[in-house]
Amino acid sequence: MEFIDLKAQYRRLQEPINEGIQKVLNHSRYVLGPEVTELENRLAEYVNASHCIAVSSGTDALLVALLALGVGEGDEVITTPFSFIATAEVIALLGASPVFVDIDRRTYNIDPALIPSAISAKTRAIMPVSLYGQCAAFDQITAIAKTHELPVIEDAAQSFGATYSNRVSCGLTDLAAASFFPSKPLGCYGDGGALFVSDDRLAGIAREIAAHGEKRRYHHTRIGINGRMDTLQAAILLAKFDYFDQEVEARARIARRYTTLIEDLFRGSDESVDVRCPYIASNCESVFAQYTIEVPDREAVQAKLSARGIPTAVHYPVPLHLQPVFKNLGLGVGSFPEAEAAARRVISLPMHPYLSDEDQDLVVAALKESVSVQ
Ligand SMILES: *Cc1c(COP(=O)(O)O)cnc(C)c1O
Repeated sequence: MEFIDLKAQYRRLQEPINEGIQKVLNHSRYVLGPEVTELENRLAEYVNASHCIAVSSGTDALLVALLALGVGEGDEVITTPFSFIATAEVIALLGASPVFVDIDRRTYNIDPALIPSAISAKTRAIMPVSLYGQCAAFDQITAIAKTHELPVIEDAAQSFGATYSNRVSCGLTDLAAASFFPSKPLGCYGDGGALFVSDDRLAGIAREIAAHGEKRRYHHTRIGINGRMDTLQAAILLAKFDYFDQEVEARARIARRYTTLIEDLFRGSDESVDVRCPYIASNCESVFAQYTIEVPDREAVQAKLSARGIPTAVHYPVPLHLQPVFKNLGLGVGSFPEAEAAARRVISLPMHPYLSDEDQDLVVAALKESVSVQ
């Protein structure tokens, strides 16, 4: 069994994907070919954003967003400590400081109630992460940002395709960064990402930054990066995008089935068997980039599942403020108790749109044995 079965997806979508790749090979416009513009238009329309800029990765989408806002030395950006390193890495790379705010223990996303006290004169942006595919609490976050005249950047690397109050992730904030890393809900065959921008002027700046700060050919007005998406990746994404809604539906169905099966299994168990299924807020539809549960004695459970042939992953075992690279921030154990508690207990189960009921039953049966046989 695979944790995320990309081969199963390729087997099903082989024809349109191969066709898309062949078209690019035929016209040979490997950089900024027509597929890139077509993809940008389709993605912008899908999330209802004014602008989409296809870039080389989710990390570069975040980086370009911060560069476009002019974030640099001495600035602060508010974000969550419970995320992949890229979220805080891009902030530090620009000489700015990530200012962490603890999470809401139910959703694993930044706790909006704790944001105001983290805002200082140096704050330049708020960058929530929509973790595991569920949007952060953007109504509350946007209201706070408005009061302080701060832009909001959604780290939507895991949430492209999710909805929030019937709006779509990446279309909720001033800027949003999606990742098309192969294992994300919409994945290409290498690195890829997209930056979504609502403001026309800011979008123009971001587009230049993503292509060497070039205003027109060999005329450079800003310091930028080589951050363009390859045409081949755009063609692969276009082919997959036709099936994306079906896949999002399949993910939701599989997630619901996991929750029903797991809750049934542990119903009436004694309190020591504290297994928690994902909590999805009533105004949210998660795209389930991960199906992540909480278990007691996580390391033991993971080892037992592995011995039974069930692949799992931990997103993430070490919160960002405790990463060696951020030692300079001086934030020790206990700084963000909710993120630290989550990091000790979370485990992600196999999840992809082609996971069969039989395999899912195997996972759940193995989970039952792994959790109760302590
Ligand atoms: C995957 C991910 C990124 C980085 O995306 P890449 O495309 O791998 O550069 C950033 N933030 C979060 C939360 C992610 O999960």
